[in-house]
Amino acid sequence: YWMRLADLRIHDNRALSRASEYATKQDIPLIALFVLSPQDYIAHDRSARRVDFTLRNLVILKESLSKLKIPLHVTSHSPRRNIPSFVLGWCETYGARALFANIEYEVDELRRDIQTCKLAIPKGIQVNLFHNKCVIEPGVLFTKQGKAYAVYSPYQRNWIATLNANLPYYLEECPMPTGNAGSVRSSEKFASLFDSPIPETVEGFELEDGDRRKMCEVHPAGEEVAGKLLDVFLHTKSRSSQLGAVNPLADGSQKANAQTRILNYGKDRDRVDKDTTSRLSVYLSSGVLSVRECVRATMRMQKSKKVDGGRDTGIGRWVQEIAWRDFYTNIVASFPRVSMGRPYLEKFASVVWENHQAPQESGTGRRGQDSDDAEVVKRWKDGKTGVPIVDATMRCINEMGWVHNRVRMITAMYLTKDLMIDWRVGERYFMQKLIDGDLASNNGGWQWSASTGVDPCPYFRIFNPHTQSGKADPTGEFIRHWVPELRPLRGPDLHNPSESAANKLGYPLPMVIHSEARERALRRYGNPGEE
Ligand code: FAD
Repeated sequence: YWMRLADLRIHDNRALSRASEYATKQDIPLIALFVLSPQDYIAHDRSARRVDFTLRNLVILKESLSKLKIPLHVTSHSPRRNIPSFVLGWCETYGARALFANIEYEVDELRRDIQTCKLAIPKGIQVNLFHNKCVIEPGVLFTKQGKAYAVYSPYQRNWIATLNANLPYYLEECPMPTGNAGSVRSSEKFASLFDSPIPETVEGFELEDGDRRKMCEVHPAGEEVAGKLLDVFLHTKSRSSQLGAVNPLADGSQKANAQTRILNYGKDRDRVDKDTTSRLSVYLSSGVLSVRECVRATMRMQKSKKVDGGRDTGIGRWVQEIAWRDFYTNIVASFPRVSMGRPYLEKFASVVWENHQAPQESGTGRRGQDSDDAEVVKRWKDGKTGVPIVDATMRCINEMGWVHNRVRMITAMYLTKDLMIDWRVGERYFMQKLIDGDLASNNGGWQWSASTGVDPCPYFRIFNPHTQSGKADPTGEFIRHWVPELRPLRGPDLHNPSESAANKLGYPLPMVIHSEARERALRRYGNPGEE
């Protein structure tokens, strides 16, 4: 079993489960391999936090698999283009005749798997690939015209209808791997695999001690934690104490409550001043938790034989978010250009961004900044834009590696529309900082905000960050938590500090005036290619 970055679990894991079934039937041992690929992590802007989270989960997985007498060997390999031959060579070394893995839908990963299949055939190794990331895998749902969906609502309607019509197929829980015979553990051939250590770091992706400690505290690893978090979301109410960088399970005294977070999700989910959402993206993006299990849990909660994907209940609204995850994965698989840095809507490929080199009218030089680290971008990254909700969001990401969806949208819209910085700069920065970085959801979120993607926010609907701030953080607790210099402020002043208040509190003034920035964005989006 070739374990990958997004299937770090034993429960409900299709490739692992089928590999185990096969091994049992053939009466041969099951062995597991994980290949760390630093070159891929660089190319895909993996955050050191996500790499570290992977290693932390692998430590737990190795122990759990060992109990089943299944060795998990973790190794690092470069160059990445040789990974297929490396893995097949490894199979040959151990006499493996069949290889099982879950599919990753990004372009590089699909190419790697195609190459693996090609090389495996002459070696007589059977490659078995499974869909495991989504509830409904990419390539199943099409429009009436037989095209890939590019609009969410009809996709979601088809998604819920198809799911409910085929529940056993999509939601059936995979059997747990049965494990190897005791002789495998003691055999000389496999002993080194059981004993091989998990690397503590991957070169180039080391976390500073303080950051690592914080990540361990805020995002503990392991399937057990993920399962408990799902439980907390389904059965306990929201707490504002969760705004900071604290262990999400720290408050062990939570009691089942009639007003649980999932039940309130319909009305509360856009509130960022309370912990209204599940925070499960950390575990779903690494596959520590099965997305199918999330959906099954909602059915158990409702004691229903159907999945609720409607707008009337908090549960249905939450399931709709899970469908967004499938939708964006389907987009990456259907329109590979989006994972190659190109906009889905090609007409916006020539929008003039502030950070791109553009010839001056005089033709004598270059206008604008050509680097990600231009002062404006740096202030955005550091949370020093002078717009409190944007600054709170960026500081939360920098500190926690995770932030609520609503403010991801606000800060993304601010970077692309108010500051007119290319969405790819923001997309990249998020991937480098987030612990839940996932190409499909991140790219989808950025292209939505920049109005260049599938089913995007229309370019003329530009968020006013101050108004949005009041809606997302009505109590101001989120801003006051992450931007402590603004703690004395209350009411509208907190969301849009006056010049005198900002000066007094040592808080920066905004880099642009929203109304002027809005006009610039409307002009440039309305006439792509023109200033
Ligand atoms: P909940 O509200 O509890 O939702 C449950 C699950 O549904 C989430 O865990 C997630 O898997 C899925 N989900 C929810 N909203 C979305 C969405 N809009 N798109 C896709 N899936 C969704 N999500 C990531 O997992 N990785 C990313 O790298 C990522 N980058 C984003 C970048 C931008 C600019 C934006 C606007 C959104 C991004 N998202 C990303 C989507 C979303 O913000 C997070 O999934 C969400 O904040 C996770 O919080 P939660 O687990 O509490 O979500």
